[in-house]
This record gives sequence, structure tokens and C-alpha cells, in this order.
Amino acid sequence: MNAEILCVGTEILLGDITNTNATYISQKLAEKGINVFHHTVVGDNPARLERAVSDAVRRSDLVITTGGLGPTYDDLTKEIVSAHFCRQLRLHGPSLQMIRKYFGNDPVRMTANNLKQAVLPEGCLEMPNHNGTAPGVIIEASADEIPERVELGDVEAAIRAAVEEGPSEKDGIRPVPEALRERLAAAAGSEEQMPEGQVRTSAVPEKIVILLPGPPRELRAMWEEYVDPYLDSLSEDTIVSHSIRLFGIGESAMEAMLHEYLLGQVNPTAAPYAKDGECMLRVTAKASTKEAAEAMMQPMIKELCEKLDRFVYGVDVPDLQTVLVHTLKERGLTVSAAESFTGGLIAKRITDVSGASSVISYSAVTYANSAKHRYLGVREETLDAYGAVSEQTAREMAEGIRRVSGADIGIAATGVAGPDPSEGKEVGTCFVAVSYRDPAMPQDSSTGTADPAGTAMEDIGVSQIWPKTDPPYLYRENGCITIVQQLHLGRGRVDDRELIRFIGASHALNMARKAALRIAPKG
Ligand code: ATP
Ligand code: MG
Repeated sequence: MNAEILCVGTEILLGDITNTNATYISQKLAEKGINVFHHTVVGDNPARLERAVSDAVRRSDLVITTGGLGPTYDDLTKEIVSAHFCRQLRLHGPSLQMIRKYFGNDPVRMTANNLKQAVLPEGCLEMPNHNGTAPGVIIEASADEIPERVELGDVEAAIRAAVEEGPSEKDGIRPVPEALRERLAAAAGSEEQMPEGQVRTSAVPEKIVILLPGPPRELRAMWEEYVDPYLDSLSEDTIVSHSIRLFGIGESAMEAMLHEYLLGQVNPTAAPYAKDGECMLRVTAKASTKEAAEAMMQPMIKELCEKLDRFVYGVDVPDLQTVLVHTLKERGLTVSAAESFTGGLIAKRITDVSGASSVISYSAVTYANSAKHRYLGVREETLDAYGAVSEQTAREMAEGIRRVSGADIGIAATGVAGPDPSEGKEVGTCFVAVSYRDPAMPQDSSTGTADPAGTAMEDIGVSQIWPKTDPPYLYRENGCITIVQQLHLGRGRVDDRELIRFIGASHALNMARKAALRIAPKG
């Protein structure tokens, strides 16, 4: 089945609102393994909407529209779609009652226009709107129902006529749950009659158009309650997906690495997503049973995890901090953070995870230089010579918090979150550091040299692919390893303090997670 999405609204074209409905629906369809081939946006203009509907219903099996179901006469989506399947408009009794109830049965608040929202195409499946007035509509049809030429006619007159005629039992309109029950019963019946060895295929309509209201709150609730089970009822297959979560690699770098491998994959598939400085690969398989789908996709998951090894932090895990806390817990380790520009975000993200109390006792937010010196022991000479946003200060912060807290792992973040540059360093420049005791290293080996050649890459596997990073610095001293990584998070994000802080914190959390994996578990 191929699908397309048609969003109606001049506001979207003007850039007044973002088309989040299309994003939402596309994601939902992708989860179901339904291919989406077009997104269209059209303004509230009858001629152009007519053209867009005409193209969509002819080229796609499933068309989902949003918007234009409102009470005014420029809300025409339903009327135009009805005309494309030669469906008469009917006043739908149950929808009328719902709308009356929505207005508290107050005739003053409910205008005559609202009656229009209870006018639906005959023979459709109807979805009550529990958060607004416009019901949703599903039209199931065969391809030959679409006429050569579509006559829109006098829409206002058609609606008036439907309202005057009043509701009729014979409108053929059914609520979605009832239609689903019927489909299920019919399928069960037909199964008994199937000759042995033959598989039943449930009759999927050739053309399906789903009309949803524009307001996202109304649309999403309707999707969860009605559209989701409806689409599931069309397929006999079970769809299973798993998410591989990655950190330290950008979406395009990931795609470049996987391009050949993913080319031509149909079932299972792997779809990349990027958000908040992270990447995710969603692997989806479709089969007759959950077990069969799992068996089909496990080799792909294994192979992808091997290919992307040093970037993968988990499969089906919620986030970096949860993985960090669980890793620390499993190994009996503790962490503590020294934060400057992240202002406590690292500690917050760790303590958001339930059960964090066994892995963190405290952290420090040391914004001023004097605080870095006083609470973490960062040397005044270091601060004077290199500034707060420097590799040297980050190193001393991570070592300092590890020393004063007694934690196994100290992490630190210092940087420029913006909006203005600081100490002559551009917005987004930051240094994150991790310091831990390496059990494999004798106490007295002490050179304390920087390691710009990048051997720390092997130690902590810090990414050089994304975002733009400089080679990490590695210090070995008194049985401890400290790694400092410089990041440039500012590109294109100079105004985005929150995102710069978030991604900086993510790097620190990820370094702590990698360090935890290198320390031998405690008893
Ligand atoms: P209403 O009864 O509110 O008129 P409607 O179904 O006619 O509902 P529209 O008038 O197209 O829908 O949109 C109503 C509101 O819903 C818009 O003002 C906008 O805030 C939001 N909206 C509409 N379309 C989208 C979209 N594609 N993405 C995000 N929000 C949208
Ligand atoms: Mg409207």
C-alpha cells in the first residue's frame, strides 16, 4: 500500500505554523511499514484543493488529509473528497448529537455553521471527535468509483439540502469500531471455509481516504483511538520494530556508512532518524507472527550494531543517562559531575533516572572561576593562563570532582552556551572531560603528557565524525586517566543555548558511560 499526506491550510503555506501533522502522520505510517510517497500542502482555495485531491486519490492507495473540516464555508476538504467518490452528503445523527453535547446543548453557542460539521459523505466510516467538533471520516472505495470528471456543484446548496432533509438511518455511515468488528467477524467466517493450505487475504479497499481535523490535539487523539486500529485491521501481518540508539555520529555520516548495505532492503528495513544531537536507526520487520518478524530482523540488528559499534549505546533504550546509570549500577561504580555552562543539566539528567542514588552522591555547579578553584581545586594559574573554557580547566575540573567526591568517575563540562562569545571563544566551543582510575595502570606511571595524536580514540572511542571535534587529549597520571574532548557545537546554533547545553551534557554522559565500560567491575 502506498500512501500520501495532504495538509490543507493557508497558514502552513505562509509559514505561520509548522506542518507538525505531516511529521506525526509520516512517523506513524513508517512504524507500520506503510510507504509515504508524497506530502502536499495546499491553501484554503477550492480550485487548488480540488486539483490536489484529484491527483492524490488517483495516484495513491491511501490518502490522509488534515485540516479544512471546520464549520466555515471555506473549510471544504470533506465536500471535495466526497465529490471525488460521487458520495452524497448526509446529516449524520450521532455526530449532530456529539456537536450539540460539545456546546452544552446551548443553541446560542452553537451556530448554524456547526451543523455543517455533522454533514458526512454517505457510506463512510465516522470517527467521533472527543476534543473538538469536527468528526473524522474514512472513505473506502474501489478505484472505478472515481469519475473521469468531477462535478463539485453548489456545495452550500448540497449542505443545506442535507441539513433540511435531516438524519436518515439509511445513510450507510458507521462508526469505525463497528466496521472493525464486522471485518473481524467476516474474516473469522471466511477462514473456516478456506480450502486447506490456502491463506486468507482480507479484502483491502482499493482506495482509502482518511480525513482528519487540523488541530494537532484533536488529530492525535483520533489517530490513537481510531486510525491506528483501523490501519492495523487492513493487514494480516504483525509489524515489529527495534531502535538502535547511537551517539557521536551524525545522520549523514551514518547514512554514508550504511548506504550500500541498506540499498534495496525491503523487509526488514532500517530507517535513520536524528534528533537533539543523536541518531537512531529503527529496524522494522513484517511477518505473519511476532516470532517470525523477530527472527527476520535479529541478523540485521546484529550486523548494524557491529558496523556502527563504537557509536551504539543501546537497543530499545530510552536515553544516554538511563544507560549510564544502569552500566554504573551493574559494575558497582559511581560518578560525579563538575559543571559550568551546563548549569546542572548533567546531574539533572542522571538523577532523572530512577535508582540513580546508588551511583551518584553529589555534583557541583561551579560557574565562577573562584568556585572552580575553591570547590574543585582548579589552579588559579590554570584559570589565569588558559581561561575557564579551556582544555586545561576541563581536565582539572574532572580530576577535581573525582578527588573531592571520591567517585570512580569524574566528568566535567565547561563551554560557551551563548548567545555571546566569551573569553574570545565562539559560541558552542566547549570542553568535556572524564577522569577515572585505570585498574590496568600501575600507581606510579606518571608522564602527564597530552595525547593529541588521538590514542584516546581507542580508549573512549570519542567520535571525530560529528560534531566537528579536535583530537582528544589523554593524560595518564598516578594510575588515573583523564580525557578531554573539545567540541564545536555552535554551527548554525548560535541562538540555541538549550541545545548547546543539552548536546554538551550528552557528550559528558557518553564519556562517563564509555569510561565505566573500561573500569573492571567491582566485586
Ligand atoms: P477548525 O475547526 O479549527 O477550523 P479544521 O479541521 O478546519 O479545524 P484548520 O482550520 O485547517 O482545521 O486548522 C485549525 C488549526 O489547526 C490551525 O489554526 C493550526 O493551529 C492547526 N493546524 C492545522 N493544520 C496543521 C498542520 N498541518 N500542522 C500543525 N497544525 C495544524
Ligand atoms: Mg478551519
